[in-house]
Amino acid sequence: MNSTHRDVDTDVVIVGGGPAGLSAALSLGRARRQVLVVDQARPRNRTALHMHGVLGHDGLPPLELLEKGRREIAAYGVRVVVGDAVSARADEEGVEVTTDAGTIRARHLIVATGLTDELPEIPGLREQWGTGAVVCPYCDGWEHRHHVIGVVATSAQSVGQAQLLRQWSDRVVYFPNVVGEPDAAEADALARRGIRVERGAVESLVTSNDRLEGIRLAQRTVPVDVVFTGPTLRPNDALLRSLGARAADGPAGSWIDADRDGRTSLPRVWAVGNVVDPRANVSVSLGLGSLTAGAVNAELVQEDITRAPAVGTSPLASGTAL
Ligand SMILES: Cc1cc2nc3c(=O)[nH]c(=O)nc-3n(C[C@H](O)[C@H](O)[C@H](O)COP(=O)(O)OP(=O)(O)OC[C@H]3O[C@@H](n4cnc5c(N)ncnc54)[C@H](O)[C@@H]3O)c2cc1C
Repeated sequence: MNSTHRDVDTDVVIVGGGPAGLSAALSLGRARRQVLVVDQARPRNRTALHMHGVLGHDGLPPLELLEKGRREIAAYGVRVVVGDAVSARADEEGVEVTTDAGTIRARHLIVATGLTDELPEIPGLREQWGTGAVVCPYCDGWEHRHHVIGVVATSAQSVGQAQLLRQWSDRVVYFPNVVGEPDAAEADALARRGIRVERGAVESLVTSNDRLEGIRLAQRTVPVDVVFTGPTLRPNDALLRSLGARAADGPAGSWIDADRDGRTSLPRVWAVGNVVDPRANVSVSLGLGSLTAGAVNAELVQEDITRAPAVGTSPLASGTAL
């Protein structure tokens, strides 16, 4: 990756070089499109030591996947620059993205900027994020099978997270924290599956030499091997919102609307991965990136047809001697 670019014109500019953006870049590069990726290089899972559930790459460090991806797309002439896309404009003619290093004009824009995990304000949790404190049972449950799993509640959905984790261990401890007591049905379901409830506000995570040891409540420390919790998911969608892309309200808040191909409500503006889909894990982000690339390329082909000169105007068709 390099960190500078002059003002450039390209077929497609992709903002965000995580799994979704790089996957789109790979397909578009292989389709012989000119592509520039602008990336702050702060992928969501950057603090995790290993990535799981990605076929063919199970256990690979997540940053290695991206490094490998950048090498692969470079072979097709795709450039990746480190930078921050700060604003954008889009109309029927094209798009323009302003970064901290210059301006990029392109025929289409793909936004693949991911999301930000807003962590609960618990001292020690941020330092453990991605190692001793995690979010996704399918990403990290297997590594903690049979361990003591603490589930720190952040919302009404946290009881469900505890029940899900029971699949991996019969030593799950549920901390309602400040969310409130489980209701009678939930308490009964927790008890039936042997999930212990530890009441009281969580004061901090207790660690020794950076290793998680337990969860500190007012009067005591409960030993746990790992903490699962549910951060608030905030899409990194400032660019899309500044462009006026349509959003929809759902149970997880307001998210920009994009169809399965990544098409937003705006012409020439596409969005893919966690920025529009909180469920897009690495595999899904890779898959959707390739779908979006196909849809963008199809539109480029249509434009190429429209722009091509009519056959009757070519010298051969008009019978002009060569
Ligand atoms: C701790 C943790 C562990 C995880 N483990 C797994 C796992 O084991 N397996 C799995 O499948 N999933 C895992 N995930 C989920 C995984 O991180 C996401 O599914 C994946 O990162 C989504 O890819 P993305 O390309 O949409 O976004 P990201 O990977 O977050 O990439 C977005 C990129 O866009 C850049 N960006 C943002 N704004 C701008 C801007 N304005 N200008 C330029 N660049 C910008 C960011 O810096 C980043 O590089 C984990 C998540 C967490 C939090």
